[in-house]
Amino acid sequence: MKSYQLIISLFLVIFISCSKKEKEVAIAEAKPKKEAEIKPEFAYGFSLNEYHVERDTIERGDNLSLILARHNYDATEIHDIVAKVKDSFDVRKMKAGKAFTLLKSKETIPKLEVLIYEPDQAGFQVLDFRDSIHAYTVNYPVSYKEKTIAGEINGSLSASIQNEGLDPGLAAALAKRFAWTIDFFKFERGDKFAISVREKYINDSIYVGTEEILGAYFEYKGKDVYGFPYKRAGENEAQFFDENGQQMRTMFLKSPLKYFTITSKFSKNRFHPVQKRFKAHNGTDYAAPHGTPIMTTASGVVIETGRTSGNGNYVKIKHDGMYTTQYLHMSKILVRRGQSVAQGQTIGKVGSTGLATGPHVCYRFWKNGVQVDPLKQKLPTSLIMDKSDLPNYLAQIKPIKKAIDDKIQEKLEN
Ligand SMILES: [Zn+2]
Repeated sequence: MKSYQLIISLFLVIFISCSKKEKEVAIAEAKPKKEAEIKPEFAYGFSLNEYHVERDTIERGDNLSLILARHNYDATEIHDIVAKVKDSFDVRKMKAGKAFTLLKSKETIPKLEVLIYEPDQAGFQVLDFRDSIHAYTVNYPVSYKEKTIAGEINGSLSASIQNEGLDPGLAAALAKRFAWTIDFFKFERGDKFAISVREKYINDSIYVGTEEILGAYFEYKGKDVYGFPYKRAGENEAQFFDENGQQMRTMFLKSPLKYFTITSKFSKNRFHPVQKRFKAHNGTDYAAPHGTPIMTTASGVVIETGRTSGNGNYVKIKHDGMYTTQYLHMSKILVRRGQSVAQGQTIGKVGSTGLATGPHVCYRFWKNGVQVDPLKQKLPTSLIMDKSDLPNYLAQIKPIKKAIDDKIQEKLEN
């Protein structure tokens, strides 16, 4: 990174110290190339040299009829054109600010022959007013390119990603995918990362965005953490797995809220803020604003919902033969008894019903019928990928992992 910046600085120094004469030479050399780019002979499927070409943007209040009227078409002709193109071109959809091109004949009084409307970068629409009036749409071909970047975390992850030329929005997507393994607020300056993506382009040149994350690597607390998406048979969404096919999520989320403050931990003896006496606190209190969504920390079945004077509105979920969790003081319950819930699903909203001084969730956790402190449990991870999927998965990630490793190596050498 540092040597890279040094090279840029050197370039700047050389450039600034260039004599005026040298600059002129550079400009003269660049010129012919630029002209060729500006004046292509063919565009939109037309030989532009055969026309007077006018490029413009739609102004507010302008429309096809007005454009035609300005080019000497009379009311009957306009009516006829609109009727003929209306099945393939929505006349009302011409929007202010969008580009259009007019092709006019090279006669003494030029006649408007073709209008090309460009609603977006994906393609264009042609309105041909010559003999057989008609309209059609041309979509540019879409292509995908794979790209792998590597860098060091310097400030936020999104800024570091942007610094390496990728969409900074990838940081949020990755944070979600790696949430079970990495706390994205706990990176250290200089931690390395690499991301491999498939990017979408229109016409091979216009960048549309990231289509898909192919894999990622993070150096985290001195360890190498890899993640790759893989869609197993019958699944709609790909799950992330590590380089050995181990699923990157645990059976339980770390907390039932996305953002929170732990206000009271599990304790055999704490001073109760409402009852004003010492008693066991068999839960962990997570404070958050009233109405914040509460998530079930693991998949399971709702075995109880209800309201008591102490618990307020609560939901209890059985996850398997061993584990059960409960969520108290809800302002709103959003599940029914008997309902199946998936990990991370919203089951209610934060409130302060029952014995509570302010909005929070009291999260209770049972292991084999005994209330325990979830923060102190060594919780099970999810299953390893099915053995039948593993060879296919490993073959799929091999080139991606290699691209990531090579990129990190390249970055280290620079
Ligand atoms: Zn509590």
